[in-house]
Amino acid sequence: MRIAVCGAGPAGLAFAAFVRLSVPESEVTVWERHRVADTYGFGVILPPNALDNVRRADTPLADGLARRLVTWERVAIRRHGRSLATRAPLLGALSRQTLLLVLRQRCAELGVRLHEGARAPDAASLSTEYDLVVAADGAGSTIRTALAERFGTTVERTAPDYVWLGADRSFDSLTFLVSDTPRGPVVAHVYPYEPGRSTFLVEAAFKPTVDELSELFADRLPGARLLENQSRWSRFTQVSNAAWSHGNVVLVGDAAHTAHYSVGSGTRLALDDARALAAALRAEPSLPGALAAYETGRRPAVEHTQRIGRESADWFAGLADAGPSSPEEFLVDLVTRGGRISMGDLTADADGGAPAGTVVSGR
Ligand SMILES: Cc1cc2nc3c(=O)[nH]c(=O)nc-3n(C[C@H](O)[C@H](O)[C@H](O)COP(=O)(O)OP(=O)(O)OC[C@H]3O[C@@H](n4cnc5c(N)ncnc54)[C@H](O)[C@@H]3O)c2cc1C
Repeated sequence: MRIAVCGAGPAGLAFAAFVRLSVPESEVTVWERHRVADTYGFGVILPPNALDNVRRADTPLADGLARRLVTWERVAIRRHGRSLATRAPLLGALSRQTLLLVLRQRCAELGVRLHEGARAPDAASLSTEYDLVVAADGAGSTIRTALAERFGTTVERTAPDYVWLGADRSFDSLTFLVSDTPRGPVVAHVYPYEPGRSTFLVEAAFKPTVDELSELFADRLPGARLLENQSRWSRFTQVSNAAWSHGNVVLVGDAAHTAHYSVGSGTRLALDDARALAAALRAEPSLPGALAAYETGRRPAVEHTQRIGRESADWFAGLADAGPSSPEEFLVDLVTRGGRISMGDLTADADGGAPAGTVVSGR
């Protein structure tokens, strides 16, 4: 089977590696328009248990990623000059660039051909030339856009605006910093992803400059700088598709669906799509059967995560109207938004650690 993969993000690279293992006679060619050093962003959240599925498909890849994860079991907030923290389920993160490098190396070991710095040919010529075309070209997918009516695509931009920054300091867990300004709250989602580095993603109803943000959060960044990497204010792109395949073209990862970044699940969904598609190509005797099995298997989990993502996005968007709450109320609302975690879970989880809502620092 000759397979064309458009895009070397987590979905495209993981699929390329998995399918070389599940269908060893496959020939896999990947196109990526950017060099890996040019990738955007900083660290991405990847819960360690997201690697369980990767390990089922490819143990060396799972081990390679696990070695790079920074992990924590705590959620912290700072508002009105006070810090609170609670125990939470185990989370982890790694730099997006490292994630891509580990995936690329595994693809090279498995004989995947990669055209780097090269835009993928158009969907029509690829689908004639290849047995299968995998659109792994992200939320703005060119392949999907060319066939938008066939896929039944909806793309929505959701408030509030965000900017993806980094900080040259390692926070010790997922931390939400809130600065209440006369123009509304400015919220930073902060977490470590490698020694001396944290993601510092900021949301606001207006667009402060990086210098203004450094000042707003100066008390939490003593001696540290905010970092930029293709950072600009944007709105989250919510992508959904009524169908994930058309003929021999199939959507994976963000090209198929996005889930709001505040639930830190896009990479996991991309890896799970990749595994499911590679497994279906091995299990099903026909290509249409494999593509149908892939979509049927993945849709419920994806739509569930998208629902949680929407609720989480709405909660953050509503912060400006909700007005200032006490730090305790804010922490409880924050960790229980979307219904994924209840305070019961957190308290039960807190044995030996800070119980939910415990003030761990009064600074
Ligand atoms: C601000 C922000 C923060 C996020 N934080 C997290 C997080 O903490 N945890 C998490 O799990 N997820 C997070 N996500 C989501 C996560 O980044 C994506 O869900 C994930 O990267 C999807 O992987 P993908 O491979 O489908 O797409 P992408 O990572 O977007 O990769 C697509 C690739 O295709 C390439 N490409 C595009 N068009 C072409 C073309 N025509 N030819 C060749 N190549 C092409 C692109 O250059 C890119 O490398 C975040 C997203 C945003 C916007």
